[in-house]
Amino acid sequence: MSDARRFDIAVLGSGFAGSLLALVCRRLGRSVVMIERGAHPRFAIGESSSPLANLLLEELCDRYDLSRIRPLSAWGTWQRSQPSLACGLKRGFTFYGHRLGRDFAGAADRSDQLLVAASPNDEVADTHWYRADFDAFLADEARAAGAKLFDRTRLDAARRTGGGFELEGERAGRPVSVAARFVADATGPGGALARFLGLPATRFPGLPATQGLYAHFTGVRRLDEIGIFPSSEEPPYPVDGAAVHHVFEGGWIWVLRFNNGITSAGVAATPALAEELRLAEGAPAWDRLLERLPAVRRQFAQARPALPFVFRESLPFRSGRAAGENWALLPSAAAFVDPLLSTGFPLTLLGIHRLADAIETSWDRESFAARLEAYEKTTLAEADTAARLVSALFASFGDFPLFAALSKLYFAAASFTEAARRLSPGAALPMFLRADDPVFGPALRDCCGTVLNGAARGGLSPAEREDALQKITRAIEPLDIAGLCDSSRRNWHPVLAADLLAGAGKLGVEAADVEDFLDRSGFIAPRTVRA
Ligand SMILES: Cc1cc2nc3c(=O)[nH]c(=O)nc-3n(C[C@H](O)[C@H](O)[C@H](O)COP(=O)(O)OP(=O)(O)OC[C@H]3O[C@@H](n4cnc5c(N)ncnc54)[C@H](O)[C@@H]3O)c2cc1C
Repeated sequence: MSDARRFDIAVLGSGFAGSLLALVCRRLGRSVVMIERGAHPRFAIGESSSPLANLLLEELCDRYDLSRIRPLSAWGTWQRSQPSLACGLKRGFTFYGHRLGRDFAGAADRSDQLLVAASPNDEVADTHWYRADFDAFLADEARAAGAKLFDRTRLDAARRTGGGFELEGERAGRPVSVAARFVADATGPGGALARFLGLPATRFPGLPATQGLYAHFTGVRRLDEIGIFPSSEEPPYPVDGAAVHHVFEGGWIWVLRFNNGITSAGVAATPALAEELRLAEGAPAWDRLLERLPAVRRQFAQARPALPFVFRESLPFRSGRAAGENWALLPSAAAFVDPLLSTGFPLTLLGIHRLADAIETSWDRESFAARLEAYEKTTLAEADTAARLVSALFASFGDFPLFAALSKLYFAAASFTEAARRLSPGAALPMFLRADDPVFGPALRDCCGTVLNGAARGGLSPAEREDALQKITRAIEPLDIAGLCDSSRRNWHPVLAADLLAGAGKLGVEAADVEDFLDRSGFIAPRTVRA
């Protein structure tokens, strides 16, 4: 084989994850080939970023000198640097609890809603990535950095050789053959390497085999315009400039608005509800679902699908393996839990960080194999932790206050991790959801276990439910730097400098360090600082 066909690293798939990894590997001086079955620009699902995802993206860009990508880690810099790439403003996580067949109640005490701000202003806000634009941009960047991209390529074989892998396929009727010492699979759940290496698939215990139905739409109305969820008080952020979740027994709907008139929306439903709705039928099933959710139906009254509906018979996926000799699955190929809480991007970015670090520091050493072993263990353990929390959330869809309390476990872990890393850049990466925290990790598992065991017995008794709520509050408290345990906020949680200052001790720093950080970063707008 000619040298032109030999590479250090072959990346399978050129979605955001494959292209980012390829780009980082080029920065590390590795020769890289990307093999992609489709061609950019193309539709891809998975669009909503989060504070942790954006921080991880930012850190990756700083460490590997990706200055053209770094601005895409926040709304303000994105709009100024790449206004032609469509995206959506995500100021927070908006949840409404519905009862199927009834109009949204809109409880006066806000017990059927939860608004958690992810940022204090638009400038530093998160985004929804319009993946057709975002992924094409990253793939172009990877190519410009010297990665070879074979797009429209059908991969037919991946054979192990003494020094790695030989990959064979076909592009435009002509054979393609490349050799690579290391293969990273970024082709998604059950992707290319799973097939070629015959990797076993396993299950997440307790997580229903949910089905998914989704599309892009035009004409989706803003909730704040049509007053579906009226309030006399001003919410902590505009409720539509967020990831909107409509939650109900058996499933939930996401609504993500982009700045090009397109809105992404879809449903994840338990098998029972999916069968009842005959989700596989696509558009008619979507209409049947909205018939049962009058408030959401009004939101979609003038909406038209801009793409054919996509039906997914099974959303969750867990591979039994995530890495081995000379190969690794990115977290997005190793597992998928559910779109709930936008866990896909941070998990994937954590995996890119870990693989990049292993390639940077251990590539030519014996320790590389041990690094891959550790990568596999962590990748699967993180997916399992996310799945446990999401399983408990699915089990509590019919009890919104319990659902809201459980979801604050996620917000506590995410906001604490973000603040800790911003205050002490370069500290070791904790596991996702702080699963390796000696106090919070077991407490999180215990809270989820209580809810799941209760659900398995047909539901928690009122006393057990009260205990569970208190247990959740106790678990959150040591990490709560966002006022999540403050019940007087009645489920509306803005980002306040005062909360961060009050949490300095929990973060292991002085209040002066927090003040200094706030001054330096411009992170908190002055109006949000309490006197
Ligand atoms: C319904 C749904 C909603 C989601 N919502 C969110 C969300 O809001 N937030 C979040 O953080 N995560 C979300 N996720 C997860 C998110 O989609 C993934 O984390 C993310 O897309 C991973 O990116 P990727 O580049 O690894 O994979 P992908 O975007 O899936 O890209 C894979 C690429 O590989 C190519 N490919 C596939 N097979 C082959 C092959 N055999 N040979 C060569 N190329 C191949 C494809 O053409 C594609 O370009 C969601 C997932 C689903 C299913």
